[in-house]
Amino acid sequence: MNPIDRLTQAFEKFPGIGPRQARRFVQYLLRESGMARATLADDIKQLGTNTFQCKQCFRWSVKDGIKNSLCSICSGTYRDKGVIFVVEKDADIDNVEKSGFKGLYFVLGGVVPLAAEEPEKHMRAKQLLQRIEADGSQKILKEVILGLSATTEGDHTRTYLQEKLMPVAEALNFKLSSLGRGLSTGSELEYADPDTIANALSSRS
Ligand SMILES: [Zn+2]
Repeated sequence: MNPIDRLTQAFEKFPGIGPRQARRFVQYLLRESGMARATLADDIKQLGTNTFQCKQCFRWSVKDGIKNSLCSICSGTYRDKGVIFVVEKDADIDNVEKSGFKGLYFVLGGVVPLAAEEPEKHMRAKQLLQRIEADGSQKILKEVILGLSATTEGDHTRTYLQEKLMPVAEALNFKLSSLGRGLSTGSELEYADPDTIANALSSRS
C-alpha cells in the first residue's frame, strides 16, 4: 500500500472521522510544507516517549523531566482530595477544569454500549473501584460524582456504575452523585460550555 492510502486508513480509525474526512486530512498534509509535516511526525513520535499516564486518574500528561507517576492535578496541593469526578475521557477534564471544579478526577477510558455483554471491558470500572476503596478506607473520600455525558451510552454507563458503587458508598460513607439537570439530553461533556458544567455541578444529586 502507498503512504497516501495508508495514512488515509490511519485517519479513518480516529474517533468520529469517516473516509471522506480522512482523505481531506491527507490532502491537507500534501499541501503543507515538508517542515510542517516533519514537525507533526515528530510530535506523534514523541507521544510515545515524552508522555505518561497518571497512575491515579489515568489521564495522559507530558513528562516534566522528573520521574512522573502522578499528574499535576492529582499531585496538586490546592485540590480537594475528597471529591472524585468520574469522566469518560481526557478531553472532558479540560472542560470541567474551565468550570472551576477543584476536586480530583478518574478517567474511565470509555462508556458501555447498550448491548455489551462484558461492560468492564469497555472502561476501567475495576480500577475505579480500587481507587474508591483505597481513598474510602483512608477516610478522605466525601463524594464521587459520575460526570457522564447525557447520551444513551452515558446514561447506560451511569446506571451500571451506580448499581456497582452504591453498596460501596454506603459501606465507606461517601456521597454518590451524578451531574444533574444542567446537561441537556444528548449533550456530551466534551462539548458542553463551562457555565453549563458549573450549573450541572451545582444541581447534582
Ligand atoms: Zn492524575
